[in-house]
Amino acid sequence: MAGHPAGAATSGSGGPAPTVTRRLGGFEVVALLDAHGPFFLTMDEAFDGATEHDWDRARRVDPGAFGPERTWNLDFRCFAVRLPSGGYALVDAGVGPEGSPASAWAPVPGELPLRLAEAGIRSGDVRIVVLTHLHADHAGWSVSPEGMPYFPNARYVVQRTEISALERNGDETILPFVVEPLRDSGQLDPVGGGVCLARTARGGLMTVPTPGHTPGHQSVLVRDHGEQILITGDVLVHAVQLVAPNVAYRFEADPALARRTRRALLDAAGEWPTWLATAHLTRPFLRAESGDR
Ligand SMILES: [Zn+2]
Repeated sequence: MAGHPAGAATSGSGGPAPTVTRRLGGFEVVALLDAHGPFFLTMDEAFDGATEHDWDRARRVDPGAFGPERTWNLDFRCFAVRLPSGGYALVDAGVGPEGSPASAWAPVPGELPLRLAEAGIRSGDVRIVVLTHLHADHAGWSVSPEGMPYFPNARYVVQRTEISALERNGDETILPFVVEPLRDSGQLDPVGGGVCLARTARGGLMTVPTPGHTPGHQSVLVRDHGEQILITGDVLVHAVQLVAPNVAYRFEADPALARRTRRALLDAAGEWPTWLATAHLTRPFLRAESGDR
């Protein structure tokens, strides 16, 4: 859209652009493609409330998500936000290496380390890792299979309710693989509610609680000079939920809450010029109004 600071740089050739950068005031947001592949359920099984009309509209927004025979092709994407004070905040940590918890169903190994290197970001430059939630495809490059945090200088920001829900459910995957090593290294930063991570004269970087997909799900808002980039996490896992926010995704922990959260977030996004930055759509950035609900 004309008139917006839409500086886009890509690397690689053919297929989806693995790295795309968007500037917003004092911030720079780099989309980093960790992996791409078909989901293990058809789109109808994953979103059984969607109508053919919904699918037609979704296809116009994100044609790359539609594979043959109603398969759903999805990206697994992380975002690095360059902080005005130096260093980076990384939002989500992808599917991870061979042997990560996501190996059971996601296309591992991911390529986040390669993407970071291409973008000139060293692991030591990452000051903050925000995990939108503790599903395996968002926390894979948090800690190595040997239990070493990949980002030695970072605190890892997770909603406290996300951790307590896993503890209540007796989780034996993410707690030992991600949470306990970070607790041991002193890098786990459990938070409650929205937290300001960085500030500029006319904006900032903050977390926004967006529960429903999981109990302690959070999104990340980058706001400066009257514009914003909203890193949604899994509030939107497919464009069908952008064009029809009432459509539930099969693996939402609380579908009714997820629906209310999605509506509220998209309504709030409509009040400012907003780019949505999603983990799983095959377009790294899209205008909030492109859903045209
Ligand atoms: Zn996900």
